[in-house]
Amino acid sequence: MQALRWMMLGPGEPMQAAPFLPSARAGEVVIRVAGCGVCHTDLGYYYEGIRTHQPPPRCLGHEISGRVESAGAGAESWIGRAVIVPAVIPCGECDACRRGRATICPQQQMLGNDLHGGFATHVVVPARGLCAVDEARLPAAGLDLASVSVVADAVTTPYQAVTQAGVGPGDLAIVNGIGGVGGYCAQIARAFGATVVAIDVSDRKLAAVGDTAALTINARDRGVKEIKSTIQAFAQAQGLRARSEWSIFECSGTRAGQETAFGLLNHGATLAVVGFTMDKVEVRLSNLMAFHARALGNWGCAPELYPAALALVLEGKVRVAPFVEKRPLADINSVFAAVHRHEIDRRVVLQP
Ligand SMILES: [Zn+2]
Ligand SMILES: [Zn+2]
Repeated sequence: MQALRWMMLGPGEPMQAAPFLPSARAGEVVIRVAGCGVCHTDLGYYYEGIRTHQPPPRCLGHEISGRVESAGAGAESWIGRAVIVPAVIPCGECDACRRGRATICPQQQMLGNDLHGGFATHVVVPARGLCAVDEARLPAAGLDLASVSVVADAVTTPYQAVTQAGVGPGDLAIVNGIGGVGGYCAQIARAFGATVVAIDVSDRKLAAVGDTAALTINARDRGVKEIKSTIQAFAQAQGLRARSEWSIFECSGTRAGQETAFGLLNHGATLAVVGFTMDKVEVRLSNLMAFHARALGNWGCAPELYPAALALVLEGKVRVAPFVEKRPLADINSVFAAVHRHEIDRRVVLQP
């Protein structure tokens, strides 16, 4: 079988399939791609001219699952295994990596940005950090290997956020922006024992949350004060902390959403910024001081957390199947256009 990569030649130019010869050097593996998720970040490179670290021609795609076909020296034990590739692969050796701060490794390599990505039949990656998938457990969760590609960003990024926010039983977790990553954030917070409040401006998305959220709020016609008092009343009725220590996950990646999230801060609260926007917001930063609150961010997820995130998926505590839509890789150009036009709500996974 001829190995093919769909290359971005330049922003907005139709991507084209280009043949290549995949080969693994020492410590690397060649993976036959089962699926690769289409992320908002890919659209940013393709439509908004956000630059990839390595210039085009570049193969995008950083949510990859597949099977290891061949390996270089030292990585042979991976041959034949089903894996998820971390979206960002730290070097494993620098000061930050040695201190367990893999997400800020200065030598980290991101798929479809530093390295050629997963919109391809094959991808060549370092074996370090690969997450093994127990395929025997996939059918019980209604999944196949292609579908769990979305673990490598859409699931693990909020997993890192929920983990570092310290969410646990008895906590109130508020997720602002409930599509895609936010939907997984809500499920993960609930799996960690929190009661979840979901906020969005789309009734359709709020309805899709189902029983993951104990309370849903459409923020379209409500000011932040009204939203806050609604949540306070709910928390009180539920016997939860009504005026302190909320965990607020900003997943909308919009200016309005960030303003709402900041406005929900209370005493001892944690604000986690998960979504991204280039827009600036005006906030009274001193509220962090006055409330003894904290604001956190996370750049992806450390590879060592991937197995625990995958475990939640395989246990059925985080449902993935209803939020994934598989399409042929050969349709990449029309799929990108459709996702860009917001015509597809679910996460698209491209399959070679
Ligand atoms: Zn992504
Ligand atoms: Zn490093």
